[in-house]
Amino acid sequence: EPNNKKKHIVMVPLMAQGHIIPFLALARQIQNRAPTTFTITIASTPLNIHHLKSALSSTSPNQIRLAELPFNSAQHGLPPNRENTEKLNFSQQVKFCHATLSLEAPLRSLISRITEAEGQPPLCIISDVFLGWINRVASSLGIRNITFTTCGAYGTLAYISIWFNLPHKKTHSDEFWVPGFPQNYRFHRTQLNRYLTEADGTDDWSRFIIPQISHAMKSEGWICNTAEEVEPLGLKLLRKYLQLPVWAVGPILPPAELKGSKHRAGKESGIALEACMEWLDLKDENSVVYVSFGSQNTISASQMMALAEGLEESGRWFIWVVRPPVGFDIDGEFKDEWLPKGFEERMRDNKKGLLVRKWGPQLEILSHKSTGVFLSHCGWNSVLESLSNGVPLIGWPLAAEQTYNVKMLVEEMGVAVELTRMESSICGEEVKKVIEIVMEKEGKGKEMKEKAKEIASHMRKAVTEKREEKGSSVRAMDDLVRTILS
Ligand code: UDP
Repeated sequence: EPNNKKKHIVMVPLMAQGHIIPFLALARQIQNRAPTTFTITIASTPLNIHHLKSALSSTSPNQIRLAELPFNSAQHGLPPNRENTEKLNFSQQVKFCHATLSLEAPLRSLISRITEAEGQPPLCIISDVFLGWINRVASSLGIRNITFTTCGAYGTLAYISIWFNLPHKKTHSDEFWVPGFPQNYRFHRTQLNRYLTEADGTDDWSRFIIPQISHAMKSEGWICNTAEEVEPLGLKLLRKYLQLPVWAVGPILPPAELKGSKHRAGKESGIALEACMEWLDLKDENSVVYVSFGSQNTISASQMMALAEGLEESGRWFIWVVRPPVGFDIDGEFKDEWLPKGFEERMRDNKKGLLVRKWGPQLEILSHKSTGVFLSHCGWNSVLESLSNGVPLIGWPLAAEQTYNVKMLVEEMGVAVELTRMESSICGEEVKKVIEIVMEKEGKGKEMKEKAKEIASHMRKAVTEKREEKGSSVRAMDDLVRTILS
């Protein structure tokens, strides 16, 4: 009886840290909701599956299956064994994106294997917005398809609408309106990344992104890592633009059993989680500035110099996850060209700053009571991790939809100030000034802190499971599961 069998859901994230982790977290949530109903398989390339396996602690019940989709980066003109967007330069990134199309054949054979073994095809494929082509595969096989955007609603809408409409190409002015947003909203040219500035609809990025989003818009609906109370405007506008259901099931944070982040921190930075926590334990409440630019991007050498100077001159305590700047070997040693002479030793001796190499235990740092503000590139996972802990942000967006995230954090939520964006030049004095504003116990700093705490409380409510006051995200998850089964 096929109906008595477990239903299979296959999930396929884009191969990037900020996508794979939320996919795993979503898989856990669906599974916990209906443990006897679904079998879940996360499919990715062999190296990503390998990392995922070692990141999942061996004690956690391992019901989520992991499947390898063979991928040969060298075949696509990339260095060998590059299966993740990390450590790729700008021109390699677009190549990598186009190369993901080669996963179609391996995905089809995975689905055949599942169908053969279980006597029925998977019920549903949940795929990344950036892998929109999966919608074509799913519909050719009669399998349902739902899209997961790991970004926020506002950022997702701005991102897709700007790619679709290239509104900056239709005006000479620096400011422009983006279709889908209220008529009086303005975006600025400096908020566009270099691909968009150069895009004309026929360039390599346009030829990848536009069809992927178009395909994804043919899926049954989109899952969004946000909550109704957190992004009321963004969700309303995104639903109207897509004309599809959007399930706001967030915030979905890295699941507890994922020891990956801590593990990786210990391994790559040489600083154990315990050492970081001990350092934080000695500081006052809300007194530490945490600085990190995520897993993909780095700033320039001169920007790093300015940031170091600003941090030092602010006199505040800080933890900085330092990655060598653009153009330098990511695995290389610290250099005087991009950090002031003797900076690290000075910060160690006066106990002002902890420099963590490449990868920090971010969630643990953000949930420590001593952390007062997050100077961040404002990737969506970082935003959620910060706000869920009531930590306001200093925005320094670098890529993707990060500039739009910052716009929303500043204009809609009042929980951030923007320090600078992308490649803009900056001096230490500006860094110091912004830190002062946000760390103030009165005025704007106090206001931002209060608003961040309010968002944190909205987030907690949204994920409340208690029967009598079930949160909006929990209800959305119930509805999503019902829809998949309908
Ligand atoms: N992260 C971490 N330690 C680091 C840098 C990043 O644990 O030193 C984690 C962070 O907690 C988040 C993810 O990696 O979950 C980064 O995702 P985000 O969307 O913020 O940015 P991206 O890396 O995709 O630009």
